[in-house]
Amino acid sequence: MLTKPVEAYVSIGSNIGDKERHLVLAVENLGSLENTQLKAVSSLYCSAPVGFLAQDDFLNAAVKVETSLEPFELLHGLQQIEADMGRVRTLRWGPRVIDLDIVLFGAIQIDVPELQIPHPRMKERAFVLVPLAEVEPDMLLAGTPIDDLIKETLNQKIFLFKQKWFDKLSLTGSI
Ligand code: AMP
Repeated sequence: MLTKPVEAYVSIGSNIGDKERHLVLAVENLGSLENTQLKAVSSLYCSAPVGFLAQDDFLNAAVKVETSLEPFELLHGLQQIEADMGRVRTLRWGPRVIDLDIVLFGAIQIDVPELQIPHPRMKERAFVLVPLAEVEPDMLLAGTPIDDLIKETLNQKIFLFKQKWFDKLSLTGSI
């Protein structure tokens, strides 16, 4: 457990079944992790799959949390949420009920196979960057403004799907 809480950003996505319902459940579960509070939730975005293309579009969002969990404790919390929600690991980059990734964790950098922070592919992926920029418009990633990174991803299909989808009363602090 950390002595001082940090701000972390989690990217979430679903592309099977009732995707919006899956994302609502995932954010509720994220807010229920011990020593973790929801601070902001982006709109829902619809994005085309990356990697394995013969699958349904994704719904994506970004969530800002304040947490006193250690990075690996947060990772294990996210993996428990995925398991509880019935995610079966089949194809890498294949369809999924729910996917939760830590994209940033304070200023911490980690690079081991089980956990890489900042998430190594986030800077190339519109479905991570666009929701994240909504939550944190002035964010710099390795010194580069997030909007500049988004300009490099304009060939990736993503559109705003729904703005008011998560009950903001569940959030603490400002949004
Ligand atoms: P995926 O199937 O894309 O959800 O990848 C899951 C795997 O990525 C797990 O084995 C995690 O240990 C690993 N992983 C590495 N870095 C991260 C991260 N920043 N957030 C979540 N999972 C990660």
